[in-house]
Amino acid sequence: MDSDGRVVLVTGAGSGMGKAIAREFGSTGAAVACADIDRRAATETKRAIQSADGDAIAVEADVSESEDVQEMIERTVSELGGLDVLHNNAGIPQRATPVEDVSEETWDQLIDVNLKSAFLGTKHALPHLRERNGVILNTASTAAIRPRTGLSAYVASKGGMVALTKQLAKELAPDVRVNAICPVATETPMLDEFSGADLSVGDMESTIPMEQLATPQDVATAAVFLASDEADMITGTALEVDGGRDI
Ligand code: NAD
Repeated sequence: MDSDGRVVLVTGAGSGMGKAIAREFGSTGAAVACADIDRRAATETKRAIQSADGDAIAVEADVSESEDVQEMIERTVSELGGLDVLHNNAGIPQRATPVEDVSEETWDQLIDVNLKSAFLGTKHALPHLRERNGVILNTASTAAIRPRTGLSAYVASKGGMVALTKQLAKELAPDVRVNAICPVATETPMLDEFSGADLSVGDMESTIPMEQLATPQDVATAAVFLASDEADMITGTALEVDGGRDI
């Protein structure tokens, strides 16, 4: 697949899936804005793309803050010449907690970083995406479809991401396509935060018929496909990268 000549903005590009997604877009020819709240991590991803002869910038931004999101998009457009693909990928995990013990602060933080971020990104990027028949990608989770005990705020944020994706796909067609990716447990630093006394990584793996966790590269390949012209009739979908998991 070819991303030649496109400008792609990936949030959470400093680690895990975001890093793999940014590098995959870079290696298929896109100019990539690597955004993360962690400036050093975003810069490392930018350098990795540049050292493979790609074009990239690093942008420090907190995706839950409107001003940061606006600046992130303005810098991308002014330094890379436009915007074709916005991938709202940054997210934070929740420690498994009974719902009555979840603080309002935790709830608000999960919803702001994992869901409001996609609203803010869409709102600020839309004028640029409309100019170029662009694409929005949202990283949700299989948790949106098959919830797990103890993850009320996380599951609500990811369920909201899938619903928002389907709603925006209708509202923005035919100008802009919008799709979500729902990864199953994936080998990234976040995975350890999800495992715990009640569920080990081995337990998670045992629920996946393909008998392996997803890799960041599995998700990156799906992202590049959904953003490509080959996917031009695909909008409003929530693509499960889940190794066949059905429980
Ligand atoms: P990760 O922790 O490796 O990477 C997340 C990145 O997001 C980090 O670089 C972090 O600095 C950045 N980030 C966090 N808060 C931010 C903020 N407010 N503003 C900007 N950047 C911020 O995690 P990952 O596993 O690569 O997660 C990527 C996405 O995939 C998340 O949305 C996550 O919910 C989702 N997801 C993860 C799994 C999994 O098993 N790892 C499964 C399904 C979905």
